[in-house]
Amino acid sequence: MTYDLSLLFIGAHPDDEGSAGGVLGKYAEMGARAYVVCATRGDGVDAQIKDPTVATRETLGEARVRELACACATLGINPPIVLGYQDGEVEKVAPLAAARKAARLLRELRPTVVITHGPDGGYGHPDHIAVHYFTTLAVELAGDPALELGFPAFAPAKLYFTAFPRSYMEYVPGFRNRRAEIGGRVLGFIGVPDEQITTEVDIQEWMRRKMDALACHRTQFEFDPETGRPKTFASDVAEADRLRLFGHERFVLAGTAVNVVETDLFSGVELRRDKS
Ligand SMILES: [Zn+2]
Repeated sequence: MTYDLSLLFIGAHPDDEGSAGGVLGKYAEMGARAYVVCATRGDGVDAQIKDPTVATRETLGEARVRELACACATLGINPPIVLGYQDGEVEKVAPLAAARKAARLLRELRPTVVITHGPDGGYGHPDHIAVHYFTTLAVELAGDPALELGFPAFAPAKLYFTAFPRSYMEYVPGFRNRRAEIGGRVLGFIGVPDEQITTEVDIQEWMRRKMDALACHRTQFEFDPETGRPKTFASDVAEADRLRLFGHERFVLAGTAVNVVETDLFSGVELRRDKS
């Protein structure tokens, strides 16, 4: 089976695509079809509004979908697809129903590579964890020819989970100190053990574009008044370490127990020359 250069990120909230913003921008520039699917509008009770001039509680969902569309346009990829689940309540959605909906979309869009949250949800966010599980199931269902979903069966070649390396705890103060209150619980990052990371893609040339796309999320970031750029994990890291720590995006390839080390999401995939 040959595949085309295409990838799809599926996340829980507008701005989650930022964890794969580098690869989305990079492969899009190489001619890939690239998509972001977002489970919610990001307007749940725990959602923040960092800039009250951009949105109110009532308009937050619309504003965040607009921010996501801005981010996708900045990355040079297709407009986002929003599934419309309630932010903060994705874990209440029947997993099989969500997986079938996502599987149908995978069959329609036929992405060679699918990227989603890891089983830890990055920092334990229940929405991220729910998206992880239904997407993992969706990838399996999409390839099952016995399952009728309105499109021919299609099995993506590879499934990846986004991963922040655990060594960030040591080197990145923002990562170590970040806390979020979700559903009455205080959550923080611990990262994925470095040795479990299978894939490191060089995004140094696309870091600027990734940051520009993150800057679309006006309601979600604080901005440095001097540079006008959003404050991210990279903000408190010394300039000299920034490229070393953030010049690559890291992923865990699903379904492998062996320690593979890749530098390209499409490695091992037989790619077609034509785009269909
Ligand atoms: Zn999120």
